[in-house]
Amino acid sequence: MTASEVRKSFLDFFNSKQHKVVPSAPMVVKNDPTLMFTNAGMNQFKDIFLGNHPAESPRVTNSQKCLRVSGKHNDLEEVGHDTYHHTMFEMLGNWSFGDYFKKEAIAWGWEYLTDVLKIDKDRLYVTVFEGSKEDNVGRDDEAAEAWKEWIGEDRIINGNKKDNFWEMGETGPCGPCSEIHIDMRPNEERAMVDGKSLVNMDHDQVIEIWNLVFIQYNRMANGELVPLPNKHVDTGMGFERLVRVIQGKSSNYDSDVFTPIINKIAQLSGFEYGKSEETDIAMRVVADHVRTIAFSITDGQLPSNNKAGYVIRRILRRAVRYSYTFLNSKEAFVYKLVDVLIATMGDAYPELQSQKTLIEKVIKEEEESFLRTLATGISMLDKIMAETKANNYNVVNGAVAFELYDTFGFPLDLTELILKENNLVVNRKEFEEEMNKQKERARSATAIETDDWVVLQHDDREEFIGYDYLETDVFITRYRKI
Ligand code: ATP
Ligand code: MG
Ligand code: MG
Ligand code: MG
Repeated sequence: MTASEVRKSFLDFFNSKQHKVVPSAPMVVKNDPTLMFTNAGMNQFKDIFLGNHPAESPRVTNSQKCLRVSGKHNDLEEVGHDTYHHTMFEMLGNWSFGDYFKKEAIAWGWEYLTDVLKIDKDRLYVTVFEGSKEDNVGRDDEAAEAWKEWIGEDRIINGNKKDNFWEMGETGPCGPCSEIHIDMRPNEERAMVDGKSLVNMDHDQVIEIWNLVFIQYNRMANGELVPLPNKHVDTGMGFERLVRVIQGKSSNYDSDVFTPIINKIAQLSGFEYGKSEETDIAMRVVADHVRTIAFSITDGQLPSNNKAGYVIRRILRRAVRYSYTFLNSKEAFVYKLVDVLIATMGDAYPELQSQKTLIEKVIKEEEESFLRTLATGISMLDKIMAETKANNYNVVNGAVAFELYDTFGFPLDLTELILKENNLVVNRKEFEEEMNKQKERARSATAIETDDWVVLQHDDREEFIGYDYLETDVFITRYRKI
């Protein structure tokens, strides 16, 4: 099955179960001060769960464009380094608003994976919420019972509050969830069925594919959980992960969602994919980030100096930094990937085609402007190197490397790479000290991480005062009490 066929089969399947197919909401959220980007399929249904407005249809399904680069869900540092976290990804979902509950959600999830897609049942296992004393909630036996109809008890694993209890924010709708994981290790490597070790296993072939959330409580301001009169189902499955599984690949980047883009990067850069870890990471970073930037632009968010635009700018710069450092690309080239992106995703997202000229122009200009900044940084570095050598040193001051990082967006590895070519090194300890000082400064500014949402209490209001960044690419959202 091609990626397009997989997407269609999911929507068709839930449509056959009386779900209305609804479009993806924009990935960039425009009128919600508590959320910058859509990070899950359920975001657009938030007001239904909060009881602010009724559902137009009790069952819906869609494929939602998501972005996880800020707040509670920030996967940016993983992207490119692993093979299954993206910045932008599609989340396939089905919802019940006060309609069906655990039994049907579980039965249909299982039917779709094992009957429609014919995924090997032996490779699947599931988690259920183990319960929580402090919340006075027991194990989610209801979900476990529903699973027992389909899967052996040894493959139903208890999960803790962190992984198996979803909350919208400090207060509001919440509930236990049940995740479906798949073990794609080669047969000979697969352990005997030992669920516990699987769940704790950090293995890139044992991955979570689907999360079924059962919204059945309301978290009150005093921390108490009160059962909701209407119970809801909210599920989310990573489309790129699913396609990789269906196509039997060991990396999302080896499925047809990404191979055309990776091939084009290889062709443009002259580096072959699969030859070295460093260049592979860079190629994955670029392949991932071009999607994010192109889709942000079609959603009306151009790279800029503040808020969402700044996040997008930094993502593009991350792509340029990786390709500059590891793919030896000294000229703008990310924009040249837009064609192939349209060829792979234009069917499902026609706005890519209709806004092609704008996407290419914006990316090219951003790339060129950042490459000029890099060039300025490099000439500064040249001067520093000359001075260091003139003084007969071979160690460059860490504070200088930090300034390059802070002002010119030079990550330490880029500085080190250039220094290495000149037989110089950087004083890492000094660099770390400067970095820590900056983190302290950011921290003391009453920084809090966003939850999925920050629910503003009437008597405890917080005013949004902007985004900031802590480390190279980690953003924090800043609020102050008013
Ligand atoms: P993980 O533990 O792998 O980070 P998660 O538990 O944070 O995933 P959920 O919030 O449960 O993810 O989202 C539902 C599904 O979306 C996941 O089961 C996964 O298939 C997919 N998903 C989550 N984050 C990403 C990402 N960064 N890139 C691609 N797919 C993702
Ligand atoms: Mg995650
Ligand atoms: Mg998880
Ligand atoms: Mg999850």
